[in-house]
Formats: sequence, structure tokens, C-alpha cells
Amino acid sequence: MKNRNDLHRDLTRLDGKPYGAYRDLTGTTYDLGRGIEFTLDRAQVDPYAPPSLAHLRLPLSLGQYRGRGERVAAADYLTRVFDRAARGSRDIQIGRIGQQILERTTAEAHEDHALVRFTVALPAAGRRIKGRLAATILTEALPGVAEKLLRVDTQELDRHVSLHRDQEWLRAQLPEMGLVAFVGEGAVLPRRSGDSDEPLDGAVPFASPPTLRREVTLPSGRTLTGMGIPEGVTVIVGGGYHGKSTLLRAVERGVYPHIEGDGREWVITRPAAVSVRAEDGRAVSGADISAFINNLPSGEDTTAFSTTNASGSTSQAANLVEAIEAGADALFIDEDTSATNFMIRDERMRALISADREPITPFVDTVRALYRDAGVSTVLVAGGSGAFFPVADHVIGLDAYRVSDVTERAHDLGGEAPSTSIRFRPGAPRVPVELSAPGKRKPAAAKGRALIRYGKATIDLGPAEQLVDQAQTTGIAHAIDLLERRLGSGESLREAVEQIAALIDAQGLDALSPHRGHPGLYARPRVHEIMAAVNRYRELEVE
Ligand code: ADP
Ligand code: MG
Repeated sequence: MKNRNDLHRDLTRLDGKPYGAYRDLTGTTYDLGRGIEFTLDRAQVDPYAPPSLAHLRLPLSLGQYRGRGERVAAADYLTRVFDRAARGSRDIQIGRIGQQILERTTAEAHEDHALVRFTVALPAAGRRIKGRLAATILTEALPGVAEKLLRVDTQELDRHVSLHRDQEWLRAQLPEMGLVAFVGEGAVLPRRSGDSDEPLDGAVPFASPPTLRREVTLPSGRTLTGMGIPEGVTVIVGGGYHGKSTLLRAVERGVYPHIEGDGREWVITRPAAVSVRAEDGRAVSGADISAFINNLPSGEDTTAFSTTNASGSTSQAANLVEAIEAGADALFIDEDTSATNFMIRDERMRALISADREPITPFVDTVRALYRDAGVSTVLVAGGSGAFFPVADHVIGLDAYRVSDVTERAHDLGGEAPSTSIRFRPGAPRVPVELSAPGKRKPAAAKGRALIRYGKATIDLGPAEQLVDQAQTTGIAHAIDLLERRLGSGESLREAVEQIAALIDAQGLDALSPHRGHPGLYARPRVHEIMAAVNRYRELEVE
């Protein structure tokens, strides 16, 4: 095997050559010393293209971490160590790693070694190779980063894996406990700012009301107490600015494990819980929204509703039924991002506009049927209306960020008893005619967290609150390319997306990549967000 001196020599020899000559290095493995092996997998074609892909193989034995969850957590830890060590360098990068512990392509923990994948911006002067500088980056800076990984703090690594194991254990426990989510005592829910996912300093720590308090003993032996949000219908109330949306948002992010110090380590939510909001302007293809919207003045069929420009209420109805189609067993709804006419209709309005002139069956009439008939729980924030009190199993009050159980007081106020005549039947899974993008020349690709370029089209995932990392968006883009090949032979969208999840489970996350070898840097998206992306594709046609 070639060594560090060879790498230095190979690079300095390239100095001044046309940029494309960097490709001469690809596929050769160099021993950088101490058992660290470096390989350049794919060289960028020019200095302005996305950076080159490379990986390190490190002599770390991580065989004590068994099972997918532990390996994901150990790999996440290595990714973070690499990220911290490489932060000073603009040339070597592993992606921006956030507060969530995700399954990523950046690192793999194995019995007797670890792989770490990253990008390196190979330097140029104009279109000529700066070989000496490249040698400095790859034979000095990079080994420095690699040595930090070899000196990894094994106690901290163990803690990271153990925390993740406890979180995932509790998540798996929730159905048995009859809970949608759990919010640990002392959790810090608010974030530093609207554009930061880090904890707010000096926040009021979460405290559970006694009536909803639950206690669990985790696999690590630690005992944890906190508030359980039970299955059924839960309404969060309280004055404006008292922390309602903050609680809901933390719970909706609780579908992911969080790192120590995040403040939401013990906010644990069922994995198939989905946020539902209004999203006017979105396209909808063949969604059965008839449980919510019927008898449109246009006479349009709402059992297979399509539009290129949904209204507030139709978009929210579509988001809701699509979430259920994707397998959601709990929904999160915030008044701040809801269409009022989708959610409620008050007495005066019911008196003035007769039911047969109103296409919308408000959610307040359907929310119980959703749980009774389809087993789908709802947690919703409502500060402006008590309409949901009579249909709520639990009402949680927030007062200056402090939670109390106000169920009894809310129920004592009376109000219309929930209708039992309304039923909810989930629509049949939709079957796309095909998935294709006319004029597509390149694979689908993420542009930031919220956009996917697919052929000439752009898919906007801005409102998908539970899509947390741009690396997941790249994962969704790859999934779309795979779906393109699957769909069109009578398979439903849900089935096709689940097959992709099964492929990842069986073959690993690399299986999503359009490339062999280094797959590129991305993270695993949830089934729900993959389906959300396809659902927002404006050219989607379903049978
Ligand atoms: P609401 O939805 O009830 O109107 P928000 O959840 O939007 O209120 O919260 C209002 C503000 O209070 C936000 O700036 C949020 O960061 C802050 N906040 C929320 N919870 C806490 C807390 N536990 N401690 C300190 N500040 C908080
Ligand atoms: Mg709010």
C-alpha cells in the first residue's frame, strides 16, 4: 500500500497540471500512519463543482456496539468528533450536524474498524491544480483530524450510545404505555431563536402536572419521570405567548433522538407521529379529502381531489389524509398554522349557513372518529377557541410556560357533546400512474433543507416541520430517483416507499445512493417526509 510520503509526492507532482488530473488519485488507498487509510473516491471535475468525496478507514474496534441502533449512535458520535476536529478547515467537511442523532452515510462503526466519509475541496489556481496546497490538506490537516478520532473519548462515546439506547427504548415503549409522547421532567423546550435549534439559555424547565406524571426505568438503570401525553385527543390551551407552540414543536421533533445537552433528550414521541398544517398554494393529486370536504360548489369529486393551488382548508385536509396514508398514528396541529374554517365552526355560523351549503366538516366534528375508527390520536394547540374541550380526553393548560392539567375545568364548562354519527374511513392508498420529470438530466438533488430539484421542477418542503436536516432532504432526493423506477406498475405510493425503507433496513443507507462506492453525504429520511415530497410534486398523477 502507498503511504503518506507517496501521497505527498503524487500531489506535488500534479502541481500546475489541469484540474482534471486530480482524478489520477482516485481509488488509490494511502496509509497515513498509525493504521489510518485514506482513499479519494471521486474527484470533482472542476474547482467550482461540488467538492470531492473521500473516506478514511480507521483501526477502531467498535464491536461492543451491536444492533443497528447502537451502531447508528456510535457512527453519529464519530461524525461529530470529525466535524469538531475539521471545523477549522474550510476544505475538509462532513456536513452540518444538528441536534438530532440520525442514521447517516458519514460514518460506519464496525467490529474492527470505522469508516468516515467526508468531502474535500481540492484546491486550484484558476483551473490548474495547486498540488502543494492539496498535499498540505491531505497529508497534514487530514491526519490531524484522523488522530482525534483515534483518541476518541470512549467514556463519552459510551454515554452517547447509552443515551440513544435509552431514548429509543422509551420510544418503543410508548404504545404499551398508551402514550403518544413523553416529556421528561426538567426538559428545556424553547430554542435560542427562530433560526437556531439550540436550547434557550435561562428557560423555564419543564415540570409535569401530577395527574399526567409517569415514571419509567430505562435500560441504563436510570429512573425518569415526566409527563405522558396519552393516546386520544389532547388539547393544549393557554394565553398567547405562554409556550403552547413551543411544547407542541418539541413534541413533534421528539420523533428523533437528541444529543446530550439539547434539552429535548427526554422528549420522546412515537416515530409515526406527523405534523399537519395548512399550506395554501400546494398541489394535491387525487387525495380523498371527502371526510372533511364535500359538495363543493363546483361539483368536484373530493374522494379524489386534485388541484394545483389548494386553499387553506383543502391543503390542510390533504396534509391530514396524506399523513394517515403514510401510516401516521398521531397528528400534531397548531392553531398558528391552521385554517380556522378547517378546524371549527361556531354556533352562529352553523345557524346562518345551513350544513348543506357548507362543504367543510370541521375537524372538531371528526377528531374523535379519527381516533375511534382509525386509531389516530391528535395533539392540538388551541388558545383561541374552547370548541375542542368537549371532544378532548385531556386538556393541558400552559401558564407562563408551566403546565397543568385543566381537563376537569374544561369539561365542566359543558358544550356540545361530540357527535358519534360521524365516521372516519381512511381512503384507499393512491397508485401513481408513474413518477417522472420531463427534461430530467441529473439525479434529483436537495437545495438546502426545504427544496428538491427534480428535473425542471422544484418540490417545496418548507412547511414539513419534521424534516430537520438538509442531509435528510438529499436522502429524499435519492429516494425519488428510486421511486421513479418503481412506480408505474400498479404499486401504491405507500407500498413503494415502504419497500425503499425495507431496502435501507436490509442493505444499509448506502443503497439509496445513485453512486457505487462513496455514496455521498446524506441521512435517512422518514417514510412520511419521502411521501410528503412526492405528494408535493406538481406533475404527480394518480390512478
Ligand atoms: P404560544 O404558542 O403560547 O403563543 P410560544 O410557544 O410561541 O407561545 O412561546 C412564546 C415565547 O416564549 C417564545 O419566544 C418561546 O421561545 C418562549 N418560551 C416558550 N417556552 C419557554 C420556557 N419554558 N422558558 C422560557 N421561554 C419560553
Ligand atoms: Mg403559538
